[in-house]
Amino acid sequence: MQLNEVKQLDKNDPLASKRAEFALPPNTLYLDGNSLGALPKSSAKRIKEVVSQQWGNDLISSWNKHHWIDLPIQTGEKIAPLIGAKSGQVIVCDSISVNLFKLLTAALNIQTGRNVVVSEQGNFPTDLYMVQGIEALLGRQRCSLNMVSTVDIESALTDDVAVLMLTHVNFKSGRIHDMKRLTKLAHDKGILVLWDLAHSAGALPVSMDECEADFAVGCGYKYLNGGPGAPAFLYVAHRHLDSIQQPLSGWMGHANPFQLTETYQPAAGIKQFLTGTPSVIAMASLDAALDIFENINMQQIREKSVGLTQCFLALKDQYSELKAMKLISPEDVNIRGSQLSFSHDAAYPICQALIDNGVVPDFRAPNIIRFGFTPLYLAYEDIFNAIEVLNKVITEKLYLNEKYQQRAAVT
Ligand SMILES: *Cc1c(COP(=O)(O)O)cnc(C)c1O
Repeated sequence: MQLNEVKQLDKNDPLASKRAEFALPPNTLYLDGNSLGALPKSSAKRIKEVVSQQWGNDLISSWNKHHWIDLPIQTGEKIAPLIGAKSGQVIVCDSISVNLFKLLTAALNIQTGRNVVVSEQGNFPTDLYMVQGIEALLGRQRCSLNMVSTVDIESALTDDVAVLMLTHVNFKSGRIHDMKRLTKLAHDKGILVLWDLAHSAGALPVSMDECEADFAVGCGYKYLNGGPGAPAFLYVAHRHLDSIQQPLSGWMGHANPFQLTETYQPAAGIKQFLTGTPSVIAMASLDAALDIFENINMQQIREKSVGLTQCFLALKDQYSELKAMKLISPEDVNIRGSQLSFSHDAAYPICQALIDNGVVPDFRAPNIIRFGFTPLYLAYEDIFNAIEVLNKVITEKLYLNEKYQQRAAVT
């Protein structure tokens, strides 16, 4: 694959114009949008407005005047079409971790006589930690984690299982689970299913309603570009909204928060999943970031994502020196998300050397280099240039430099 072919791919890219909607730093090839999405210009503008005009001038009246109070629902409604959800089932609040707590405990509560939560080894740590915390809180007879290997998921779906909790796209390998099939298998056994969409939302099409999934959580700061620590979202299927109660019964999820009554009465619908006061500045940033998705569809994003990862692999294969980097993501593009992970003994210093040379991936312990591909702001030519830098770092052994060996707190 030559540079002119790569340039042709950019010429034919229907999403090419989206790049101009982001404020990207010069001389940086950003392949880490799966950890922290880049800054949308719309978010920068909105944050400024919320801080100076709304907070600065209009102060408390902004809750009504600028509809701050509606942000959790409004922003959730913008995420809904990206994950194949009809209106009234998605809300933006808290972090994935906190939302997992709400949904897991609520689900366990309606699964009378069942106590097991099945999840997968290699799932994102916080997902597993949250189940362990609930186990400690409620006791094993109410919640018991069964963490199995990927191949054993199906056989673990027994009659004592209350919830199957999986991450749709694995954060390390990028492997995609068959959501529809696993949800159906679980439902056939009376098991509720909770999906973590952290690496799915905004990166590939998801069909929550069509898969008849019960619950989901997802991330605001990865492929949705909401900004560092942007609030997360949660999805609850319509059919559960009347029968379920979440335990973090805060005033924002009350039917009438400003009547200030002493007895908790949950709001109708998805709003009952709110707990405390929304983080307005962060949520406004996410809300503005989502406008970038307005006139495009997830199929276009998926096509570009596949194109970018395939291009990366084809270019990498042209250099025999890069063979030492072993692909641990699936070869099969149909079961691979918008990332490529490679193992290498020197993964950490290679990562540091790449960053120093203007290519930003991330490192995941113990020996993985992870490249994330955000179709909205990456060009095929960026991939070409990133491979040139990668080749230089490896062949010239730049990563052996002492300064790249020191571990930072966040990797
Ligand atoms: C990034 C990520 C999270 C983050 O959880 P927070 O509580 O929002 O920090 C959770 N799960 C997965 C799979 C992730 O990739």
